[in-house]
Amino acid sequence: MPDILYIVVPCYNEQEVLPETAKRLKAKMEQLLKSGSISPKSRVMLVNDGSKDKTWEMIKELHQADRLFTGVNLSRNRGHQNALLAGLMTAKDKADVTISMDADLQDDINAVDKMLEEYYGGCDIVYGIRSSRKRDSFFKRATAESFYRIMNFLGAETVFNHADYRLMSKKALEGLSEFGEVNLFLRGIVPMIGYKTSSVYYERGERFAGKSKYPLRKMLSFALEGITSLSAKPIRYITLIGALIFLISIIMVIYFISRWVIGATVAGWASIVCSIWGIGGLIMLSLGIIGEYIGKIYLETKARPKFIIETVLKDD
Ligand code: UDP
Ligand code: MG
Repeated sequence: MPDILYIVVPCYNEQEVLPETAKRLKAKMEQLLKSGSISPKSRVMLVNDGSKDKTWEMIKELHQADRLFTGVNLSRNRGHQNALLAGLMTAKDKADVTISMDADLQDDINAVDKMLEEYYGGCDIVYGIRSSRKRDSFFKRATAESFYRIMNFLGAETVFNHADYRLMSKKALEGLSEFGEVNLFLRGIVPMIGYKTSSVYYERGERFAGKSKYPLRKMLSFALEGITSLSAKPIRYITLIGALIFLISIIMVIYFISRWVIGATVAGWASIVCSIWGIGGLIMLSLGIIGEYIGKIYLETKARPKFIIETVLKDD
């Protein structure tokens, strides 16, 4: 018996793309059904993230016309990540395996076949990775790539060029549900789950209709959210800078004392510069140390699971 697949699609003001998206996804699901790689109980789950246009009405119509489509309606707009999580957590109890993708189908849906292959080969998480960004504008490409670099530097480990196009098995979703975080950054959390993972590469296309729901403003706040919700590394850097400045002030003191010995100093100047650097360094250092504790408290309040058990051997 093949497994039940749920394709989870968050939708925010997507009335322009929904009809075409539904058509393409239906064709894909029928092809998968025919080849026997998914169960007839498989569904396309459209999550309406508090859209202001006709998105939810359209989802209801799709569901009326064809039971392949099912929907989840959020009480209001909560953003892409939360909408996606709501869909995944609802699908978890019904599906054996889920694939999340954007409503604009910029991510090649033909990669689904390869993802399922990896899944049947024993993987619990399969990342969809863009093999190139040729079709993105230079600006989008540059900002997106520096996004991954800066994120990694600041301690938010993410999979390079992977957005939220990924396959997750029921087991992986149960792992995900253990994370009780409010600040949600799925791309950083999913690698923490573990299990056997693999990647599938594809070409990213253009949005075929409608406008991007991720303007630069949202991208920046998303990046900030990612960094601050995953790690306390920025605090560590403040501590380091503070320590460095304090060190420089000590070197200055030694230098000026030696100048004073040979009588080559301007009166008053050295003592002021040294105290500015010395005190400045100490202030930053102490802020960093306080920050370290706050960082600890912060990570504690997130109450992340310390481990997720994959298998327990039965002894009978
Ligand atoms: N989206 C959402 N809630 C939001 C913003 C976006 O559910 O508040 C969905 C949107 O409908 C789409 C996906 O997130 O399915 C990605 O958005 P988009 O394609 O506009 O982003 P881009 O590809 O430009 O980064
Ligand atoms: Mg898009």
